[in-house]
Amino acid sequence: MAGSILIVEDEERIAGVLRRALQLEGYEVALAGDGPSALASAKQNPPDLVILDWMLPGMDGLEVCRRLRDQGEAPVLMLTARDTVPDRVQGLDAGADDYLVKPFEMEELMARVRALLRRARPEGGELLRFQDLRLDRGTRQTFRGERPIELTGKEYELLELFLLHPRQVLTREVIYDRVWGYDFGGESNIIEVYVRYLRQKLESTGESRLIHTVRGVGYVLREAA
Ligand code: CA
Repeated sequence: MAGSILIVEDEERIAGVLRRALQLEGYEVALAGDGPSALASAKQNPPDLVILDWMLPGMDGLEVCRRLRDQGEAPVLMLTARDTVPDRVQGLDAGADDYLVKPFEMEELMARVRALLRRARPEGGELLRFQDLRLDRGTRQTFRGERPIELTGKEYELLELFLLHPRQVLTREVIYDRVWGYDFGGESNIIEVYVRYLRQKLESTGESRLIHTVRGVGYVLREAA
């Protein structure tokens, strides 16, 4: 599971857009429209991350942030329309882990969310599986059945991305963004090259293919046809 996120935002339109976008990425999403209901929700169902709007009716985002901090460990990403240094310092004092200034790009928000969740996750313990493929995110060890597979850094990140989205077609743009971390360059064949490396390693003793090409679109991790 990608993780659970509590969105605290009184503007329904923004909350709705955020919820849909996060759900599409595989996150479990809860919504709260004000501070007290956010605190109640976080207590009942502790989220992995809180996206918190600064401007809320009644109890403001800073106060909610302080109380969330007293209540649990989830990182807080604060949304604010104010982009001034004193406000940022105030927010940091209240315990926010990161900021995003409105209006923001959804891609930017997703990148911050991923980074915060990555930081918050304790090392070890999380095992990703698909068929006979296993990847341990703590030790970064990978196995096909009982056979250990040595991966380079980028190969590991690419395989991890597929394992986080089994049976979903990942476009080349998404793969490029997630693994290489910058905008798609167009003509580069780096993804093809790395998929080829991964296939060679995953299939080196005659195992079935798990990473399939979706012509003209990208790649998908699924069972052999
Ligand atoms: Ca608001």
